[in-house]
Amino acid sequence: MRLQPAFLAFLLLALAGCGAVPGSKPTERVARQAGSVPVAVARPEVRQCQAELGQTGSRFSPLTDRFYGAGCSTTNSVSLQGVGGDRGEFTVTNLGAVACPLANTFAAWARYGVDRAARQILGSPLVRIETMGSYSCRNVAGTGRLSAHSRAEAIDVSAFVLADGRRISVLSGWNASRQEREFLQVIHKSACKRFGTVLGPDYNRAHHDHFHLEHGTGSFCR
Ligand SMILES: [Zn+2]
Repeated sequence: MRLQPAFLAFLLLALAGCGAVPGSKPTERVARQAGSVPVAVARPEVRQCQAELGQTGSRFSPLTDRFYGAGCSTTNSVSLQGVGGDRGEFTVTNLGAVACPLANTFAAWARYGVDRAARQILGSPLVRIETMGSYSCRNVAGTGRLSAHSRAEAIDVSAFVLADGRRISVLSGWNASRQEREFLQVIHKSACKRFGTVLGPDYNRAHHDHFHLEHGTGSFCR
């Protein structure tokens, strides 16, 4: 007895279908494990944040969301290379991934807090902010609690370079000339108005060479 061609075609389709269904599940799982969200389908708050950052005149590239395990991740993050100022751009060194809302606060602080204080107190505009980075999968020193750095929601700032070539570091400036001390104290105070948590050399030994600037709604300022 011969099988009808129509029945054969049905049989082949059914077999192909069987193969396709279980095959699709692992593909889906792999995509989720990789933890990446294409920029093209960015969430509204991501698009909004990046639009705001663009309006500050900052130079940045959006980064795909990444999950590293152990509670560490970089989501809604950008790579920030420069921040827009009143007259030009301030470069930002060594930053890596930084959460977009934090980048916006940082851009405002650099322009309205740091650059203007540099011109008023030290007589020269800001050209560069040196950092010790943002993202780092680690705990708050001496605790079992994850640091805001584990979500790229904190920036460690180490030094400021002015147009006249002067470099004021947190390490040496905290105990340097009266003007440099005043500059660092003024920008530390203005950081406290903008960031949720600010830690400097007066807080503890771990912060003797940088300001820790953390995104959030708190008001911890030391
Ligand atoms: Zn820090």
